[in-house]
Amino acid sequence: MLPITKMLLTNQNRPKKKILKLKGIVIHWTANTGKGANAVANRNYFNTTTRAASAHYVVDDKTIVQCIPDDEIAYHVGAASYTRAGNSLKEGVYSPNYFLIGIEMCVNSDGNWAKTYNNTAELAAFLLKKYKLTVNNMYRHYDITGKDCPKMMIDENEWLKFKNLVHKLMSQK
Ligand SMILES: [Zn+2]
Repeated sequence: MLPITKMLLTNQNRPKKKILKLKGIVIHWTANTGKGANAVANRNYFNTTTRAASAHYVVDDKTIVQCIPDDEIAYHVGAASYTRAGNSLKEGVYSPNYFLIGIEMCVNSDGNWAKTYNNTAELAAFLLKKYKLTVNNMYRHYDITGKDCPKMMIDENEWLKFKNLVHKLMSQK
C-alpha cells in the first residue's frame, strides 16, 4: 500500500468531534474529472470550501492523503434522509457520519484510474483489517443515502468486483 500522507484539515470541515463507534467505511468518488483534480487538490478544496464537505482519505494514482484522523468524524454522508441501510447505521440524533470513515477516489483525467482503483482497494482492506471489520462493513455513499456516488460502482457487478478485490487483499498477509 502507498504510504499515508497526513495533511489534516485546518478549517470547519474537521469539526474535531469523535466517532462514536466505528461501524464501517464508505467509498466515494470526487466526481471531478478535471486535470490536476488529484488527492492533494481535493484535500485543499475541503480545506477552503464553505460547504460542509470532507472525508478521512482522498486517494489518487500516486498518493493517499489523510484529511481527518480515523477517530474523528468527517462530513461525507450527511443527508436530509437515509436509505434503510443508512438508517440502520445512525443512532438517535447522531447521523451516519458519527459511525463511518470516508474514502474519496479521484477521477482526474490526468491520473491513472486503474492505479487509483487499486490504491483505494488496498487502503480499504488495510482499514477494515485494522479495525476488525469485514468486507460487508464497506459501503458505497449510494448505499447510505441513495446518492449516485461512486458513479462507476453503482452497477452491482462493478461493486461486487471491487468488494471481491478488497476481500482478497484482506486475506493476504
Ligand atoms: Zn460520496
